[in-house]
Amino acid sequence: MTRMDEKRRRANLRRRNTAFAIFSIALMLMSTVVFSAGTKADEPPQPTPNYTVDGVPQSLDTENVRQIPIETPVPTDTPEMAVILADGLRVGALDTAGEAQYVLDSLLAYFTAQDETMENVAFAQEVQVVSLPKAGRISSPEELYLKLRDDIVAAAQGDKTPPIGITATRVETVTERIDYDTVYFDDDSMAEGAVNVHTNGVRGKRRATYVCTYINGMVAEREMLSETVLKEPVSRVSRRGTAQIAAQPGADGTVPVFMMPVDGRISSYYGERRGRMHYGLDVPMPEGTELAAALGGEVTFAGERGNYGLLVEIDHGNGFVTRYGHNSKNLVKVGQKVSKGQTIALVGNTGNSACPHVHFEIRLHGAAVDPFPYFHR
Ligand SMILES: [Zn+2]
Repeated sequence: MTRMDEKRRRANLRRRNTAFAIFSIALMLMSTVVFSAGTKADEPPQPTPNYTVDGVPQSLDTENVRQIPIETPVPTDTPEMAVILADGLRVGALDTAGEAQYVLDSLLAYFTAQDETMENVAFAQEVQVVSLPKAGRISSPEELYLKLRDDIVAAAQGDKTPPIGITATRVETVTERIDYDTVYFDDDSMAEGAVNVHTNGVRGKRRATYVCTYINGMVAEREMLSETVLKEPVSRVSRRGTAQIAAQPGADGTVPVFMMPVDGRISSYYGERRGRMHYGLDVPMPEGTELAAALGGEVTFAGERGNYGLLVEIDHGNGFVTRYGHNSKNLVKVGQKVSKGQTIALVGNTGNSACPHVHFEIRLHGAAVDPFPYFHR
């Protein structure tokens, strides 16, 4: 046989197979049309089904045409049933594949008609209809359709996970905020590990279009299609300490170990902050939280003092003094001896303070020092 003959022979075979395949598809379509009858012309367009019947995908692209088996099934005497599988799990059994198609088509049609803004309505699982020897319970198409439909509706209300779910997409446009990022610059006047905000960040705004994928009425995935920035965000600028600052010793040459007056996250460190010097540490805390003496000593001030609001000052000897500002209530008096960890006041928002916090300072021979190195050693 020449190469030309071989080509022609193959072309003929292909034509015959294709013709047969189209014939099979036509048969199947006729049954689908019959079973989906009852939908009106002005209803939303029928979705493309995404399930298979006996291994044949229920859609009309040429890829699938080629997959149709040409062999006629061997006739058997065993009665068969059509089983609907979702991700391989049995959902229900019906007498015929046509009835199974009716159930699946009706489900898609129902959920397509539920919300006209939803597109690409399809099954969330890989749904197949397979022929198996008759066994077990056989449902009526109406009964199975209603059961599956009600299960999906219940799932949309968060009740349970249905054996077959519905996925759909919707294009949504929203106006939303854009978060700002933080840029850091090193500051060798601050202790390593300390971070102070230099300039506040400003959130931006955008109009964004998303494709949202819903499963049983709940958003499962969001993918941005496009965005129009209405307002650019402005980065927050923060100083980051790099200095290996050593704790300075007191008058007798020793370095005392202080404890934090409250157990919380430091919101502002010692150092320059928005162009002004910050002489202590700020720790936000709920109003009324007990705060403790950072070291044992004698109370040298307890009262109102300008920006500090209600202030407690303790002298620890060796040149060290600590200050605790913005209190709601002071619990100690001048001249009183206190021990390390003893409650001396309650956290508040007095003086120059935007929200309840402790302002804590350590002073050595009258000058504020960075408290940070005095904790971790
Ligand atoms: Zn402060």
